Formats: sequence, structure tokens, C-alpha cells
Amino acid sequence: MSIPFNIPVILGSETDRISEAIASKKLSGNGRFTKRCQKLFRDTYGFDTALLTTSCTDALELAAIICNISPGDEVIVPSYTYPSTANAFLLRGAKLVFVDSGPDHPNLYVEQLSELITPKTKAIVPVHYAGNACDMDAIMELKKLHGFSVIEDAAQAIGATHNSRPLGSIGDFGAFSFHDTKNINCGEGGMLCVNNKSLSDRAEIVWEKGTNRQAFLRGDIDKYGWVDIGSSYYPSELNAAFLSAQLEAVDVIQRKRVALWNRYQENFHDIPTRGLFTINETPSYSSNNAHIFYVVFERAEHRHAMIQGLKSQGIGSAFHYQSLHKSTYFKEKHGTRQLPNADRFSDCLLRLPLYYDLSLSEIDEVCASFEALISKL
Ligand SMILES: *Cc1c(COP(=O)(O)O)cnc(C)c1O
Repeated sequence: MSIPFNIPVILGSETDRISEAIASKKLSGNGRFTKRCQKLFRDTYGFDTALLTTSCTDALELAAIICNISPGDEVIVPSYTYPSTANAFLLRGAKLVFVDSGPDHPNLYVEQLSELITPKTKAIVPVHYAGNACDMDAIMELKKLHGFSVIEDAAQAIGATHNSRPLGSIGDFGAFSFHDTKNINCGEGGMLCVNNKSLSDRAEIVWEKGTNRQAFLRGDIDKYGWVDIGSSYYPSELNAAFLSAQLEAVDVIQRKRVALWNRYQENFHDIPTRGLFTINETPSYSSNNAHIFYVVFERAEHRHAMIQGLKSQGIGSAFHYQSLHKSTYFKEKHGTRQLPNADRFSDCLLRLPLYYDLSLSEIDEVCASFEALISKL
């Protein structure tokens, strides 16, 4: 048996789009395919402004600039996330304040936010882990009270919703990833959606290397120049062309993934847990975009044994984030405040194979192996 942990989705139609881009002899960014990706994103999910970027990391960095994050500001970030979520704000000189995960989910623990918010809190960055929505109602209530910016790290959350609203559309910004581990990919890519209309003009300028070229291209002004800080954020048309083929087929891809995820869930409901693990349940206010199927073990040794056991049978599985507050880079700066839930997900969460080319029968095989291995723990 050979079932890798991930195979990036490739439909075949990407090659046609790339050929069209090459034939157009217009390969630099912000051209026809970039606009097409942005329009598909706006039309499919109802976003106001969508700016294609070279990664979600870039989209987060762009958001941090647009909210004027500066030295002395505090930004609340979950510890259980990828370093990009934190780096974007650290690069602007902010002080990071890590929030724990919930006791029964890896998303940030909203009940802990009130004790972390200070007059210096400039932004909060909810990460929708596995495409499961954070409690956005509670976070937006706090925003109303305190006035900070909310940047949704929706890297994993394409197509998922919170009470029927698309994730990434609720805070001031939503940042998405098209890395090849995500549901929709172009190797490396991202999108910044700007929901706060008062920030969208500036977003366009920072995205365009600090120039008002975008307004010029629209015909709003007759020449363009340097008007603000900015950098190079958008990919070449070759990447955008590839991505446009996948965004056109987003429904097909998502339907298949959801069918695979549901098969895992059905199978797992029949596997005796023996008190050794739990499976992830989607919160009631969230839809499921089938980004990750994970289980959480009670003990780190059992997760380790499962990874090894599955591997010996040719099945790839993977742990995920390591708490950022304990990272080599940050542990001294964080101090002694404990974040036990983030640590537990770092030590005990296991992801099983889930990708477009996987079949239902392969999932059955993974589940059968899992069941056999768990019975021997
Ligand atoms: C994948 C991911 C990122 C980084 O995305 P890139 O497109 O690789 O920069 C950031 N945050 C989260 C939560 C992710 O899952």
C-alpha cells in the first residue's frame, strides 16, 4: 500500500491556461489572469476587494502594513499556528501576545482574549484551523469594544463559513493560501481580501509597490507615481493562470474533498476509541471545507506510535504546528505564561491523508490500518 500524506491537486486544465498566458506575451503580474483569479474570488464568495499575492505569508505582511502596525503595538496571535501568522506583525515591530487554543479545539480560546487585551492591542489574528471557524461573533464584539483590527488568517479556510458568512469576510481582512498543501493551489500563492472599505484604496497602493498605478490602469488618473510605502506582492501571470484553472473548478474540488472527509468521519464513528483519542468535530457555527481530517490522542507516545505504525504500512500521516511560544526563536521573549492547550495539540494532534486524488476505498484502508493499530496500543 502506498498512500502519501498529500498530493497537490492538479486537474490538467492548468496547462491550457498557462499556454494562454504564454501566448499572450504578457507574463508580469496584475494582468488578465490575476484579474480573473480576483474576480472569481469576489464572485464566488462575495468579497469586496481581493488582491492576489505570492503567498498567504505575503498577504498577512501586506495586511500588517495597511493597519499601520508599529513598534509598541501589541498583536494577539494564537500559539498554535504557522510562524507566518506571527512574523507578519513582528516584522512591523509589534509585540506578540500569544493566546492559547481552546480546551477542545485548536482555534484560539476566545474566553482568554479579555485578559490579554490592553490599550496597546492593535490587532487580533484568528486562525481558522482546518477551515473550522473561530468564534467570530465573540471576536467582533471585542473589536467593537476595543477598536483593534481583525485579520483573519484564512489560509486553510477557502469556502468555509461562520453562520453562513464566508471565512475571511468577517474581520477587516482575510488572508488565504494557495500553497500546494491547501485545497486550491498554484504551488505558492495567496489572496488578501480587504473587507474594511476605508482601507481598500491604500491596500491597492501598498500591493502595487507603493504606487497609484492601479488607479491609473483603471483610468481614474492620467499618470502614476510613488505615493506610499509598498512592496512587490503579486505573482507572475504564469502562476495566476495555473490558479485560475483551479478556481474555476473550486466546486468540483471541494465536493470531492467533503465526500472524502465525510467517509473518514463515518468510518471513525465505528472505531472504538478506547479513551485513547478523539476525532475533530466541526463547531455548530462553522461549515466544513474538508481541509484537514485530524484526530487528537490523549498521549504523545500514542501519536508517535501511530505515525510509525501507519508509515510501516505505507501510509503517510503528519503532526502539525509546534507551539510558537515555545519555539527556539520566541521562547525567551514569551516568558513563563503557560499555554497548555496549544502544547497538547502540538504533541497529540495527527492528520491523516486527505487530497483530491484519494479514493473512498483508500480512506477505508487508512481507517482499517488505524483501527488495527489502535487496538494494539
Ligand atoms: C499555510 C498557512 C500559512 C502560510 O501560507 P503560505 O501561502 O505558504 O505563505 C499561514 N497560516 C496558516 C494557518 C497556514 O495554514
